[in-house]
Amino acid sequence: MSQIAKPFSFYGREFFVSTSIGISIWPDDTEQPENLIKNADQAMYHAKDQGRGNFQYYSRERNVEALYHMRLEGDLRRAIEHNEFELWYQGQFDVLQGDKCIGAEALLRWRHPQDGFIPPDVFIKVAESCGLIVDIDRWVMQRACTDGARLCQQLQEQNFSISVNVSAVHFRQPDFIDFVLQTLRQTGMPPQRLTLEITEGVLMKELHIARQHLQQLRQHQIDVAIDDFGTGYSSLAYLRNFQVNSLKIDRSFLTDIATNNADQAIVSSIIELARNLKLSVVAEGVESKEQLEQVFSRGCYVIQGYYFAKPAPLAILEQQLPLLSADNP
Ligand code: C2E
Ligand code: CA
Ligand code: CA
Repeated sequence: MSQIAKPFSFYGREFFVSTSIGISIWPDDTEQPENLIKNADQAMYHAKDQGRGNFQYYSRERNVEALYHMRLEGDLRRAIEHNEFELWYQGQFDVLQGDKCIGAEALLRWRHPQDGFIPPDVFIKVAESCGLIVDIDRWVMQRACTDGARLCQQLQEQNFSISVNVSAVHFRQPDFIDFVLQTLRQTGMPPQRLTLEITEGVLMKELHIARQHLQQLRQHQIDVAIDDFGTGYSSLAYLRNFQVNSLKIDRSFLTDIATNNADQAIVSSIIELARNLKLSVVAEGVESKEQLEQVFSRGCYVIQGYYFAKPAPLAILEQQLPLLSADNP
């Protein structure tokens, strides 16, 4: 492998070749020659996933996982039509306004007819890998804007925004902005009450389209938050080059914040960075009073986490809000 990786000259130009090798062993893995080739092929794809330039052995467990993914993919295709998705909401609370609920993040839930509840961390990855994520994200956007329009009407002048997660593939669709604007029009959701959550990765590829979409969102007063801030790329240049409105401090920095000096330093720096760039900042995954005090004392006042509320169906969120009309279901 190291021999092949060496650059070589061809007609005066330098070339590089990388290798990815999959290995399946006869007769331990299988006795059938065709299956042996299939297994080796699968192991080779795993080697490529691992960054190329390495070798991997066939693994029965990984095969089971791959088959599970294939089954999920088939089931996901039917999930929208069969009404298996639900949209839950997790409130965001402003400690400076007496713990008032000032917004909510829409979080998708899938009730699989046979397997029961499947967490988004599992099925979102599958949906992203097969492209179904665009349809799923669009279903979420439509549902969130329908619910949001109703809530905003009931809350009238009070400040409240609904945050919707947007995957990178969806954000880069050429008709993304048209779709968002059309959804706002159809549902009556005020644009200034919608926040789109994107991850740092969205701003690292196809910069031209990312910049264009962010500009258009700003023109229409739609806010953008950087989700899981600090976990993706260390480049901060995009904060200078792109217009975003808020940063969400990732839950992983809060888990041990009471005792971990590095986490404390990172959280302080993110809050400081947000303040200097005039961005809002939200702390995610606050579960205890201690964690709340850690972020509050550093200057972050908007909190999302189990300490205040877990994700729950719309009716539960409504109980946390001072709604003006009494006709909630
Ligand atoms: P995320 O956007 O970072 O969402 C926050 C996740 O942290 C949610 O998990 C939420 O339930 C969880 N969480 C919030 N507070 C706490 C806390 O105090 N403690 C702990 N332990 N967890 C907390 P969830 O709902 O399982 O979603 C996981 C991820 O799936 C999301 O992470 C997001 O990346 C993705 N996702 C969820 N819904 C959608 C969606 O509609 N579209 C897309 N594209 N992705 C989604
Ligand atoms: Ca999010
Ligand atoms: Ca997050």
